Formats: sequence, C-alpha cells, structure tokens
Amino acid sequence: MLRSMDIKKASEKGTNFIRNIINEDLSIGKHQKVVTRFPPEPNGYLHIGHAKSICLNFGTASDYDGYCNLRFDDTNPSKEDIEFVNSIKNDVSWLGFNWHKEIKFSSDYFDIFYECALELIEKELAYVCFLSADKTREYRGTLKNPGKNSPYRDTSVKENLSLFKKMKLGEFKEGECVLRAKIDMASSFMCMRDPTLYRIRFETHHQTKDDWCIYPMYDFAHCIGDAIEGVTHSICTLEFQDNRRIYDWTLENLDKFNKPDRPHQYEFSRLNLEYATTSKRKLKLLVDNNFVTGWNDPRMPTISGLRRRGYTPESIRDFSERIGVSKVNSLTDISILESSIRDDLNTNAPRSMAVIDAIKLIIENYPEEKLESIQAPNHPQNETMGTREIFFSKEIYIDKADFQEIAPNNKFKRLAINKEVRLRNAYIVKATRVDKDNEDNITTIYCTYDPSTLGKNPADGRKVKGVIHFVESSKAIQAEFNIYDRLFLDPNPSQFDEISVIMNPNSLIIKNGYVEPNLKDAEIEKAYQFEREGYFCRDSEANGLVFNKTVGLRDNWNQ
Ligand code: ATP
Ligand code: MG
Repeated sequence: MLRSMDIKKASEKGTNFIRNIINEDLSIGKHQKVVTRFPPEPNGYLHIGHAKSICLNFGTASDYDGYCNLRFDDTNPSKEDIEFVNSIKNDVSWLGFNWHKEIKFSSDYFDIFYECALELIEKELAYVCFLSADKTREYRGTLKNPGKNSPYRDTSVKENLSLFKKMKLGEFKEGECVLRAKIDMASSFMCMRDPTLYRIRFETHHQTKDDWCIYPMYDFAHCIGDAIEGVTHSICTLEFQDNRRIYDWTLENLDKFNKPDRPHQYEFSRLNLEYATTSKRKLKLLVDNNFVTGWNDPRMPTISGLRRRGYTPESIRDFSERIGVSKVNSLTDISILESSIRDDLNTNAPRSMAVIDAIKLIIENYPEEKLESIQAPNHPQNETMGTREIFFSKEIYIDKADFQEIAPNNKFKRLAINKEVRLRNAYIVKATRVDKDNEDNITTIYCTYDPSTLGKNPADGRKVKGVIHFVESSKAIQAEFNIYDRLFLDPNPSQFDEISVIMNPNSLIIKNGYVEPNLKDAEIEKAYQFEREGYFCRDSEANGLVFNKTVGLRDNWNQ
C-alpha cells in the first residue's frame, strides 16, 4: 500500500498529467500499486521515441515503487521476427531498466483471447463477417455518413460459434472472413463501427509456431493483456485516443475483467525529433535501401544507433526528463538531445588528443633523439580521474586547420609564422617557416620551442593565448574518424513521402588521422573528449581503430 509520503516523494520527481492521475487513483484507493507496461511490437528496432515511452513507463512505475512489464505485442506474425525481440530486450536493459519478472508476450495469452472472443459471441457482441475488404470499407461509412450493418450481423450465436471455431481450425482462407465486434455502425468514432477482433493468417509465428491461424487485433488483445497482467495505467501515444473506446468496451463486456480496478488507457504525445524520423516503416526503408549501414548505423535515431554513436543511457534518460510528457504534438529540438549527451560527457568523458586532419610539425631546436614523457590530466576539473602518459619529441602532428602562414587578424589564436601558441599539456612553440609541395600545399611546418614553458607561463610575462592540440609522431597511432552530421537536410523529414530527396550527402565523412598511444586498445563505446574536436567513442563494429563522433563540443550547427 502506498502511503501519502510515497506519493509525495514520487510527485517531487516532477509532475505531469499522468502522475496527477496516478496520485488521484492512489489517494482514493482505486489502486494500491502502480503497474505499467511497455508493449513494443517486435517488427523493428527501438528508436528514441520508444525511449521516451520506456522512460515514462518504467520510470513512473519505479518512482511509485510499482513495476513495469515488458510485453511483446506479437499479434501480427507477418512482420515480426525474433531478431527484433532480442534487440528490444537488449535496448531496454541497456537504457537501465528492469522489467518485472519474466518477459511477457501477447501470444502467451492466445488461449485467453480466444475464450474472450467466444464469450463475446455468446453475448451476441461479436460475429463472423464474410464481407470482402472492399465491401467492409464501403459499409463502414464516412465521418459524415453513418455506416451500414453487415448482412452477417444477425447470424445466430450457435452459427457464429461454429464459424469461429472453423476459422480457428483453418477451414477458411486468409481474408475470407473475420470476427467483428457488434457495437454501433453509426458511432461517431469510426473505430467503434464493428471493429475487427480476429483475422486469419497462415503464417508461422516466432513464438507459437503453427499453433494458430487466427490472430487477434491490437485493440482486442492489448486491453485484455493489460487486464491479465494487472496493469493499472496503460500509457500509450495520442493516435490511440479514439481506440480507448474499444479498450473500455472490451473490458466492460468481459465478466472476468469488468472490475472497478481494471486498467485504463491514458494517451500522451509521441516524440517527433528534428532531423530524425521515428516511423519504423521509414527507418526500415533507410536500412533496406542502404541509405545507412543497418539499424545500428550511428546516424540512426534508434537506441542501438545512438549507443554506437556514443550516447549513454544516462543522457537518453536525461533527455526524456527534459522533454517531459504532454498531450500536445510537437517537433522536439534536436539540440535538447545533443545538450543532454554533451552535459553528461563534459563531466564524465576523459580527455585525450586526436589529430584528425594531420600535418607534420618539426621543432628545430628540440634535441634530436629525445622522447619526453609527460603526465597529462584526464580531466581539467576532476583530479580523481587521474593522469595519462603522453609524449613529446622533435616531430609531432597538429591539425591542418590550426595553422596559417599569415594570421588573418589579431584574433587568430592558432599557429602562424612568427606567432606563438601553446601545445596543450606541453610547451609554447613559434612557427618559423614551412615546406611546400609543387602545388603549393604546405607539407611540413617548422617551429622553435621555449624549453622553460612546460606547464608554466613564460618567465618574461609575455602572453600566449592560443592553445592547440597535438600528437607526438613516433608514438602516434593511426585511426579512422567517422564524422557524422544530420541524416536529413530538413528538420521535419516526415513531411516528405520520398525521403531520398532530403538525405544529407555529407552525413558521414571519413577521415584518417592519429590518436595518443594509450588509445591503442580503447574500449568499445567508451566516450572520450578529443580536445578541441568533440566527443568520440570507439566503434563497436569496425575491426581496426575507428572512432565515431558523438557530438561536437558546442552547438555550432547554425554557425
Ligand atoms: P508501429 O507503427 O509498428 O505500431 P510504433 O512506433 O507504434 O510502430 P510499437 O512497437 O507499437 O511501435 O511501440 C511501442 C510503444 O512505444 C507504444 O506504446 C507506442 O505508443 C510507443 N511509441 C512508439 N513511438 C513513439 C514515439 N515516437 N514517442 C513516444 N512513444 C512512442
Ligand atoms: Mg504501435
């Protein structure tokens, strides 16, 4: 039993309309415990929109000391696959949530659904209908005009029972007939005009194999699944608002489930994220047409893609908190997601140096064979993260963009001839001259260094403002960098039917450069801040040393 103290504690975690409903239900004693469920259909990989639903369902239940079931809504064998079951389990766990006891499948309840269908037939609330799909549509009417009763609506209970049993035994062809609820063909809610409850599918199901050739529809199965599991608050997205009528109608007409504490459905607005699609159909299209390398391509807004890109579970949970829950559909600014990961990694990612677009820099007054070892802090604000060994010698790599022969103006804080910069964690250097190839490209930069400036400002008080990063050349490890950008050029790709026209041709640019030697065996998916470059993590699929750019250091998309 939840005490008012607990309700208070849960509400303090932020309030939203769902929590308000729960608070009310608990305080009037309608429910003693909060039970929710996350009900994915295993027909694709989970995306950031599902993450919102997961955080809402699992998070709410746990804040109220209740529990959340993971239930696969597997009532349509033609699109489902065990590959998706496994990826979904993985993604939910990775996000940091524990489902209650064993995983549930709607298909666990096929026998119960069937019994419920028989009960409705016996109550003259369901009938087997042989209208063709076209005719069914015609009879349904329109928003303006009421529908017409099916000629099969008045078949006797006895006949319906026998026909439904024959459906189950496989005596009819796919599409030949369906079981429909007998509700109201004139209802102002189209979904209440005798909706289909069961249809025939001769398809092997990933869980029940060939046991069944009739499959329940979502609207019929979902509410019963909720009731069987004792779900109290069945939270779904707004497009199911009208279908709440079928949810209630079904449970109210089944003796076993028509109780005061039966589950209720509540709808919230789905997440639409800028520059991303959260339509499983479109995500599948991207995969099937090789616009991306797979469901876990780091440009995909799937949980597995975000993970491979370097997003952390904490950042995705934080994002869900920040966007909140409402009943208004909107397009969420992608920078909210990006600042969630940036804030996490700014605190938690160790620093390192990587030169992505390298050019050689030779320090002419540095001793020939000397290789210096320097301890560099892993985090400038957090000493407990320790230090790492980096190296320094006569020959290092810096990024091409950090040098110009002639500084364009006084604000230029990088290296130029006769200008000084600090090499991060090392000395101050001054450029003196360059080598060029036949096409006038700079091939080598020459410098001198000030030996008294390791970790110190110059003794004569001269100010050196610029800091650039580097990697010592003999110890540098070659690495590949995947620099990702938005997958779509338009912030609202769902407006386009043909997504190929708005694909960003530069959503992936591959570069070859160098990292510090201690990244030779970098852990997969562990985040680093490559100083001045952004946050990166080692790719989980590549064989060699490949780093994926998670996000830049600051939001510079609009600059
Ligand atoms: P489908 O078109 O296959 O039904 P779906 O995106 O609704 O796709 P489900 O597997 O049915 O996928 O979704 C599981 C749960 O996640 C549902 O409760 C659904 O409402 C929720 N969900 C799906 N997409 C979003 C989204 N963009 N924002 C928030 N919740 C979502
Ligand atoms: Mg759905």
